[in-house]
Amino acid sequence: MILKYEDIIGKILSSTSLPRDQIESKIEQKLKDLHDLISREGAAHIVANELSVKLFDNTIMEPGKALKIREVKPGLNSVNLIARVMTIYDTKEFKTDKRQGRIGSFLAGDETGSTRIVVWDEKIISEMKELQEGNIVKINNAYSKVNNKNYTELHLGSKSQLIINPKNETVPEIKINMTSSRKTIKDLQPNDFVEVYGTIVEVFEPKFYQACPVCNRKVLFNNDFFNCQEHNKVEPKSVPIVNIVLDDGTGNVRMVCFRDVAEKIIGKVQSGFDAVKHENKGRQIAVKGKVSKNEMFARTELIASSIEDLDPAKLLAELEGN
Ligand SMILES: [Zn+2]
Repeated sequence: MILKYEDIIGKILSSTSLPRDQIESKIEQKLKDLHDLISREGAAHIVANELSVKLFDNTIMEPGKALKIREVKPGLNSVNLIARVMTIYDTKEFKTDKRQGRIGSFLAGDETGSTRIVVWDEKIISEMKELQEGNIVKINNAYSKVNNKNYTELHLGSKSQLIINPKNETVPEIKINMTSSRKTIKDLQPNDFVEVYGTIVEVFEPKFYQACPVCNRKVLFNNDFFNCQEHNKVEPKSVPIVNIVLDDGTGNVRMVCFRDVAEKIIGKVQSGFDAVKHENKGRQIAVKGKVSKNEMFARTELIASSIEDLDPAKLLAELEGN
């Protein structure tokens, strides 16, 4: 969700007593403090946060009204949506002190974008056995939240409803290959699902964080246990993040690798960062992922969902085939 500069100023004006020139000079100062590494919108965002101005409100939707995916902002309740199923993911099991169960998920799209639908309700998960890629689904009473990769997702709990192939509803055909069409780095656009072939030219030092075993969100240590916002007391797992720079000759892009993808860069053996750098620089890979605009740093990033070493023979065959 991206707010324009003027929208942010407007929100600050309406929720504080500060005059406009003071707000703008705070933003200027923030830009200076951060050495112009962020966009003006990014700086305005930070200033709004510092002033405790809520940029997004937890609007309750008017009942019955279906949103387009682009209109689904974080923190909404009672979201209704009609979309087409693009990819169905495997159902996963989880277990914490308090509860255990299953999580179903699929990627859904409409003419305005795509989003991951996360299903927590057992009854709906069983109904998902009937679900097929290409089906139209009507979702009622879902809630939206931001996941740990900064995407907005739609969650279905016990009060939600999933109707498969509802009568009299249409959604334009969405090309399934939209999930990963081949692109060159110079053509990457935010929200694209792409496949990119490139060479790793830089590797930044991996970072590790403690994550919830259920939802993979970062957990905080308080009063001698790890606490997940949603799943309370959990036994955390240590999860890596690695940033790399990928270049394909048309340009380069910063690529963010989480968890299993990061492990493919770091390797199973913890042999030290110099070795990791040495082994990865110059490595040619095929990456599937989503292009994302990092508002804070005003740059485009590729959030990798899978990487594979490029097989030179396969690549050559493909070139000759064209
Ligand atoms: Zn959790």
